[in-house]
Amino acid sequence: MTRVFSGVKPTGHLTLGNYLGAMRRWAEVDQYRADALFCVVDLHALTVDHAPARVRRLSRQAATLLLASGLDPERCTLFVQSHVDEHARLSYLLECVATDGEMRRMIQYKEKAAREQRRGGSVRLSLLTYPVLMAADILAYRTDEVPVGDDQTQHVELARDLAVRFNHRYGHTFTVPRATSPAVAARVMNLQDPASKMGKSEDTGPGIVYLLDEPDVVRKKVMRAVTDSGREVVYDRESRPGVANLLEILAACSGGNPEELAGVYESYGALKKDAAEAVVEVLRPVQQRHRELCADPGYVEGVLREGARRAREMARPVVDAAYRAIGL
Ligand code: ADP
Repeated sequence: MTRVFSGVKPTGHLTLGNYLGAMRRWAEVDQYRADALFCVVDLHALTVDHAPARVRRLSRQAATLLLASGLDPERCTLFVQSHVDEHARLSYLLECVATDGEMRRMIQYKEKAAREQRRGGSVRLSLLTYPVLMAADILAYRTDEVPVGDDQTQHVELARDLAVRFNHRYGHTFTVPRATSPAVAARVMNLQDPASKMGKSEDTGPGIVYLLDEPDVVRKKVMRAVTDSGREVVYDRESRPGVANLLEILAACSGGNPEELAGVYESYGALKKDAAEAVVEVLRPVQQRHRELCADPGYVEGVLREGARRAREMARPVVDAAYRAIGL
């Protein structure tokens, strides 16, 4: 059976981008067709300035939202990364296979390091090595497929390269994984700045729709989305990024196709109105289940405990094999 692994970082509140780019497919498709593991990757949240209590709270919230979005613990394994030591154990071995040069070429590292420096902060070494830890997350489970949004494909490529290199040098140990991205909404953009992605870690603000935003907040954010001075609704990501983003969001939420939807609308206002309602409808059941789950924190804790136990059982033999292969 195909093994699938993916994760979310508890660095902020989960967004519509996380949902459309990744989480929704995990819940609607991957957990039914594959042996799937989903992880709240809390160690990755320590790569930038963080508050300990906030990381703990956001980890719990992310796990609750993953369940609310439809992950079924009877069908998949849901756990928190730091509960399974194998991730950090394997990461070190992979650091001995990766090179300094390939780490510095990572686009996210360049962007995030520049942002930290602009804020006057120092760049944590873990920000540079974070893709190696991500490779360990994936390789520890002999993962075949990694369903992610577009922004993560470079990191999955690195995991592939490291798997191939390790296997070549030390004998076949890892499965070589591949990234899969959704056809529509693989990169949801910030509503106020369609040149940058809608990311929870980026900043807060009116351009980001959070999964727990109230319907009226969603409507306000979508209605105020930046478009352009044109009038005609056309789908063109290059020259009309704001409108294209709205069309993609509407298509992803309503099951349509962005090009076809462009032909349906005569004004930006009508497009925004329908996009806002489509988002509200997609979020409604997730928010409802989230409320129910918040009333039963013991349940979420139990799911995570059992998930960590199962994950550990899967990762341990793979990581032990890697230790032996590399000469330890
Ligand atoms: P973030 O960048 O919001 O901190 P994570 O690194 O936790 O997100 O990513 C969790 C998943 O959500 C990944 O598969 C990532 O590719 C996806 N994702 C994040 N932002 C977006 C976006 N704006 N559009 C589509 N997918 C996204």
